[in-house]
Amino acid sequence: MTTSAELFERACRHIPGGVNSPVRAFKGMSRSPIFVERAQGAYLYDVEGQRYIDYVGSWGPMITGHADPEVLTAVRERLDSGLSFGTPTAIETTMADLICEIMPSMDMVRMVNSGTEATMSAIRLARGFTGRDKIVKFEGNYHGHSDSLLVKAGSGALTHGEPSSPGVPASLAEHTITLSYNDIDAVHDCFESIGDQIAGIIVEPVAGNMNCIPPQPGFLKALREVCDAHAAVLIFDEVMTGFRVALGGAQAHYGITPDLTCLGKIVGGGMPVGAFGGKREIMEQISPLGPVYQAGTLSGNPLAMAAGITLLEKIRQPGFHDALATRVDTLCDGLQARADAAGVELITQRAGGMFGLFFTAQQRVDNFAQATACDAQAFRDFFSKMLESGVYLAPSPFEAGFMSSAHTHDDIQATLTASERAFAVLRP
Ligand code: PMP
Repeated sequence: MTTSAELFERACRHIPGGVNSPVRAFKGMSRSPIFVERAQGAYLYDVEGQRYIDYVGSWGPMITGHADPEVLTAVRERLDSGLSFGTPTAIETTMADLICEIMPSMDMVRMVNSGTEATMSAIRLARGFTGRDKIVKFEGNYHGHSDSLLVKAGSGALTHGEPSSPGVPASLAEHTITLSYNDIDAVHDCFESIGDQIAGIIVEPVAGNMNCIPPQPGFLKALREVCDAHAAVLIFDEVMTGFRVALGGAQAHYGITPDLTCLGKIVGGGMPVGAFGGKREIMEQISPLGPVYQAGTLSGNPLAMAAGITLLEKIRQPGFHDALATRVDTLCDGLQARADAAGVELITQRAGGMFGLFFTAQQRVDNFAQATACDAQAFRDFFSKMLESGVYLAPSPFEAGFMSSAHTHDDIQATLTASERAFAVLRP
């Protein structure tokens, strides 16, 4: 049998760090990454035959579980017709109509191939539309790895201790203003001094790349008001939250309408897909209607559209998201009770189908400084113990956890039982 450790060693020969995306490398963890052979429902199976209850779900897309039979069937049905044509296809219109129906803030939408492309394009569009260069983002929010947005970012950049990357020209980074999440006074101060230079604000409406940090009441509304007052574009990066926090995303959950929305993950059903869209007058600036250029050889790929549409139709069933949130509550309340019983300092935060575990004595975690003040080593120890017990959490203290509808009551109870063993080891 080939082990994960052997495969990792081999992978490191020709793949930087052995991975095609940094967080997968298990950096700082007590072991090398597991190599997955297949996945089904709530479970991952590694190359050594070990089964794991998975709370990563391919970093979000697998909201109905892995290898969803309906999604696979939809892809299979289109397979023999060809993989890509580089021409318009009817299924792209089906997807666009569906997205705009589910998220009424979007009059028009364009498909791309990743969340990174979606946010990068939305930023260019906001700049082109307003004729301004500066953008505001929040510390610890991750919007993919395009140059303008890789400034004080979260996710893997933060996990690896490099929230800002060499290779991003200072002359470009100077146009990215980074403020503290949930700090509306800082936003007001910023717009008061240079509001006429700011093209827009991009925000994760629930931050999921510095663990899970919901917006404080009024934060998103205040962003909306500031953008209105200064004719700036409000961009919600719903790559993670879209179709997960609620069917209509965080914008539906919190009742705030952005000008532009970025999507990814669930919208592609596990295929490489992203999308951005919003108000008609802004979207009409996109080429070929307008002068802001944006394109993609494989964009709107028919297999990817088939996967995404099938998944979106599936999770539109009434009650889907309530049931998902109930599962998250059962898991988080159960973990809290067990941590308390073991005398381990832990808090949980959640929004719909996503959650976060913070090893801290703080009552709440609302921003980057508080997130990074938590006990990262306690998280890593907890992660390792849970993995040994067959529970796969995101291998970083700065990532949100994702629930799926495939997680059964028994899966969650098994997770809680595993946590008792893990908390016992962590006890101070
Ligand atoms: N925005 C957010 C909020 C994300 O969570 C991510 C990825 N985790 C991205 C953008 C980038 O998406 P991708 O990895 O598909 O490029």
